[in-house]
Amino acid sequence: MHPDVLVIGAGITGMMAALHLSDGGARVTMVDAGENAGTWANAGSLHVQMQSRFMRLYPDQVPAVEASLPLYKAAAEEWVRLDTLYGPFELVRKGGLMLAEGAEQLRFLEAKAQRETARGLSVELLDRPALDRIAPWLGPQIVGAELCHDEGKLNPLIANARLLAVLGQRGIATLRDRILAISQDKGGITVQGQSASYRADQVIVASAWGAGHMVQGLGVTIPTRAEPLHMNITEAAAVSISHLIQHAERSITLKQLGQGQIVIGGGWPALDRGRSMPPGVLAASFLGNVALAARLVPQIGGLRVIRTWAGMNTTADGGSTIGRLPQAQGVVMALPGDAGYTLGPLVGRMAAQVALGAQPDADMARFAPARFAA
Ligand SMILES: Cc1cc2nc3c(=O)[nH]c(=O)nc-3n(C[C@H](O)[C@H](O)[C@H](O)COP(=O)(O)OP(=O)(O)OC[C@H]3O[C@@H](n4cnc5c(N)ncnc54)[C@H](O)[C@@H]3O)c2cc1C
Repeated sequence: MHPDVLVIGAGITGMMAALHLSDGGARVTMVDAGENAGTWANAGSLHVQMQSRFMRLYPDQVPAVEASLPLYKAAAEEWVRLDTLYGPFELVRKGGLMLAEGAEQLRFLEAKAQRETARGLSVELLDRPALDRIAPWLGPQIVGAELCHDEGKLNPLIANARLLAVLGQRGIATLRDRILAISQDKGGITVQGQSASYRADQVIVASAWGAGHMVQGLGVTIPTRAEPLHMNITEAAAVSISHLIQHAERSITLKQLGQGQIVIGGGWPALDRGRSMPPGVLAASFLGNVALAARLVPQIGGLRVIRTWAGMNTTADGGSTIGRLPQAQGVVMALPGDAGYTLGPLVGRMAAQVALGAQPDADMARFAPARFAA
């Protein structure tokens, strides 16, 4: 087997890289270990504004996220394009509300909104009477919110299944193997897996938390880390929530699917049980997460939770990593960074453009893997 491009990692980023490579005329194969893809555990929020959770937990990484805000906006638009081509994915783009429960939180949102406006995001601050016009179901203690018009939500189970079917129609195969190492010689790239060894002209590394270790042998240290996170979904609710909901200080995302169920998450921790087991659910995360949801939207308090689960997110330095490795020009990195489901399709497309030698959609300098060598 010797494809033009071997894509390692078949989550949303790898799938979309493979699709664009195929559109560009490349012979492409994917290889995936089948271990803890964030893509199959995620919540389907299309994040654009800076998340207060991320700002609180990773303050050192905020400059990288802030500088990438135009990429987030373009990524949400890429999802709209995919929805038109291959959907519908229940994609709704009515904006995202970040709620404040007091004056200090409102001041935080005001300052954040100014920074986001400077980066081209469409945001505004709403007082309680304005909120009542679009979200009358909010708890009485909510004093205001930041509304980011660029945000939205979709049903990831529908989107993933449809996009996987499109890849199948194109005849793009996914091999099951855990990749251990990558090396480059004059004739191309050798990828060493647990079950077999593969040759390709080029490789796209879209293996999220597994990427850093994989490229270490090429002399580059990308600090990808696995971050296990908790999620819940309720039975269908009578309340109608069209916005993506977050909080200025507390970890939460909350949104309603097309059939009425409410998906509640937002970064509560789960138990890491290693790469070949899904993360375990922690009772404290379950209880804390749904209790907070019911405080923000009291009608949620009367609903039954029908399922909880946990999945593996990936963190690195806050920014996306896209482009050729200076140490091995045949290896192209495709790591989306924070809110990776939002960014994945655009990052996959940009990595495919690099591999195809085409002009990328955006200035790539900021995302270059060379920053890790430095
Ligand atoms: C619970 C949860 C909720 C989330 N909610 C949202 C959300 O609402 N919105 C949002 O934007 N983001 C969300 N995220 C983040 C998002 O899901 C991920 O960032 C995104 O899916 C990453 O996509 P990816 O294709 O880059 O990587 P992944 O989907 O993580 O896929 C990586 C793939 O690489 C493979 N792999 C790893 N190592 C190897 C190896 N050595 N050899 C072969 N294959 C390997 C794995 O098997 C996996 O299939 C959430 C994450 C979690 C966990």
